[in-house]
Amino acid sequence: MSLIHKTAAELGAMIAAGEVSAEEVAAAHLDRIEETEPKIRAFLHVDREVTLAQARAVDARLRSGEKLGPLAGVPLAHKDIFVTKDMPTTAASKILEGWRPPYDATVTARLREAGLVFLGKTNLDEFAMGSSTENSAFGPTRNPWDLSRVPGGSSGGSSAAVAAYQAPLSTGTDTGGSIRQPAAVTGIVGMKPTYGGSSRYGLIAFASSLDTPGPFARTVLDAALLQEAFSGHDPLDSTSIDRPVPKVVEAARNPDVAGMRIGVVKEFDGEGYQPGVLNRFREAVKMLEALGAEIVEVSCPSFTVALPAYYLIAPSECSSNLARFDAMRYGLRVGDDGTRSAEEVMALTRAAGFGPEVKRRIMLGTYALSSGYYDAYYGQAQKVRTLIARDFEAAYQKVDVLISPTTPTTAFPIGERADDPMAMYLADLCTIPSNLAGNAAISVPCGLADEDNLPVGLQIMAPVLGDDRCYKVGAALEKAFEARWGGPLLKEAPAL
Ligand code: GLN
Repeated sequence: MSLIHKTAAELGAMIAAGEVSAEEVAAAHLDRIEETEPKIRAFLHVDREVTLAQARAVDARLRSGEKLGPLAGVPLAHKDIFVTKDMPTTAASKILEGWRPPYDATVTARLREAGLVFLGKTNLDEFAMGSSTENSAFGPTRNPWDLSRVPGGSSGGSSAAVAAYQAPLSTGTDTGGSIRQPAAVTGIVGMKPTYGGSSRYGLIAFASSLDTPGPFARTVLDAALLQEAFSGHDPLDSTSIDRPVPKVVEAARNPDVAGMRIGVVKEFDGEGYQPGVLNRFREAVKMLEALGAEIVEVSCPSFTVALPAYYLIAPSECSSNLARFDAMRYGLRVGDDGTRSAEEVMALTRAAGFGPEVKRRIMLGTYALSSGYYDAYYGQAQKVRTLIARDFEAAYQKVDVLISPTTPTTAFPIGERADDPMAMYLADLCTIPSNLAGNAAISVPCGLADEDNLPVGLQIMAPVLGDDRCYKVGAALEKAFEARWGGPLLKEAPAL
């Protein structure tokens, strides 16, 4: 088997044993990227020399006897919303084009420390606002299962890179579903850790009360290894949780659901769901039952109003966060010819630098926060948020985890929803409640839909700091599915 087809755990073990160097592993992936990028376009930035230099430095650290973690020397693709001091960072926006951050995000720094090697920065919807990567200012990424379809979003470059075997691992951020939804529609694993379990320091902010860094991988264990590598308390992030990190790797190594109580969310079914998605989901429920889990139907009535609440809260926070792009401090500056006031330059720059979806959100959010409307919109949405957290609390009195399809449909064609924001927003119907409550949730592949042979994802939700439960159930399903499929669902990038 070639190096690009190995898991991150396997690569880490081979590098630690001296069977292959980090440089050779990086070079194999860089070659794959070079060969497949014209079709996929997962990356906004790749710099072969920078990557190979990083890999050689890890090889030297290992040779000198330094004890590094299990992923030392393993390459990964990094979402271009984490700042990186040796690579540009754009958040896929023209307003940041060419910006070189002077520092590393905590996630970036911890991964460097653990010896991971950065293959480049991946494409996303501008400032992570979207579900398809079509809102990137630099063009869309394509789904490795079908090049005419989206890879999900906002972390679609990261999901596509892993599904295309360009990287064994990648990072994402999940504000309303941006890790789980792209993972589902590209047939890979994607995890949104508990809010505050992974640091937001150096993550370009979209909606600060929701933004959560997390891992993508082709196996549950690889995702757990990556999550563990960047998790844990960070004094530089005021909402970072100062508690022991859930034992996610241990959970991923011990797949077992016997005796577990698993709740099926009643509200995530029916109209608007693709039949093939529901078929795969129901089969997975049966498999969990056969593995010894007790299946219970659970009603979470407030989940039906999560989407509208999210589309008030997230734009409100974005309107405030994106005020920092003022044409003075970073990136683009338009019309600064000595004749215009700072205010005029700011207006011209923001008009030219932000794309239509970002502008829509800034306007929505500014409106929702304005005096006179605050209580009716933002205030009301915050109350819904409380109701959702209560629904979860009530459910977790009865069950250990909740499950649902990750998305109502499989990957949609590029262009199909681009002019219909509501249709686009519906892609996150099932993922948003976990963001509003700050809970942990993972998406794992559960087969291909009958209609289109495209991947379907199953979502496993757990309470705050119950990340290990997501991995335990995810690993049990993965094992059962592999027995059925005779190996992983994603054996090749089908469209390449
Ligand atoms: N698709 C959702 C949105 O557009 C979620 C995005 C995200 O999680 N970053 O806001």
